[in-house]
Amino acid sequence: MNSTVKHFCIANWKMSLSNKESIDYINKLNTLHFNENCEIVICPSYTSISDIVKLNINNIYNVGAQDVSSFEKGAYTGQISINMLEHLNCKYVILGHSERRNFYFEKNKIIKKKVEIALKAGLIPIICIGESFIERKKNYIKVLSKQLEECVPDKLNKTIVIAYEPIWSIGSGVTPTYDEILKVKEHISEFLMKKKNISDVKVLYGGSVSSKNFSEIMINTGVNGALIGSASIDLRQINKILSYCYFD
Ligand code: PEP
Repeated sequence: MNSTVKHFCIANWKMSLSNKESIDYINKLNTLHFNENCEIVICPSYTSISDIVKLNINNIYNVGAQDVSSFEKGAYTGQISINMLEHLNCKYVILGHSERRNFYFEKNKIIKKKVEIALKAGLIPIICIGESFIERKKNYIKVLSKQLEECVPDKLNKTIVIAYEPIWSIGSGVTPTYDEILKVKEHISEFLMKKKNISDVKVLYGGSVSSKNFSEIMINTGVNGALIGSASIDLRQINKILSYCYFD
């Protein structure tokens, strides 16, 4: 990971773009100019990873997967293993996204297993945590702590990325206040230091980030970047977001 990187821009394309659309997007992205202050990580569908890695001719982005199997090899129909991603030169993998938790019933125990598998293979896990609308009304910091406790292995000596994604903010156009994001960011760093002895952690914010609010969120909360869903498939928005990364 580049130590001069100021902000991560993780583009989670979900199941939105066909292979052709993904290639068209990257061909256009390759013509844009942005500097080292931003590390863009494109997370396409599995079917486009290979093409997107090959199209990285200017070396301006990294590639991530949106998930990985919790098994390393074997009779697991429909699954993609960490070695398959590693051999495609995938550098990151999103784990524990709320859509995986909600639609595929992924629990913290499985997410932790995936984190361990990813780290062992040398990929950087982007571990998603976040509270639901109902949990928000209670002690949501406790909810986040439990996710951290159960998803993050102890005593790591490798970089991990935690994406704080309040579920009620994803795709809703509503975001927490800057102070609330800052509070969670500090909690994540302190919790991981105290309970897991982990200091090398990057904290991202995700949930309704767009070209309209990206720079303000970065400036006012001190997070290390954003995990971006719907705005990330709009190249005009990504262009604007990347141009904000010039500020210092
Ligand atoms: C997400 O799904 O991780 C996400 C942040 O989505 P959106 O940016 O669309 O809210």
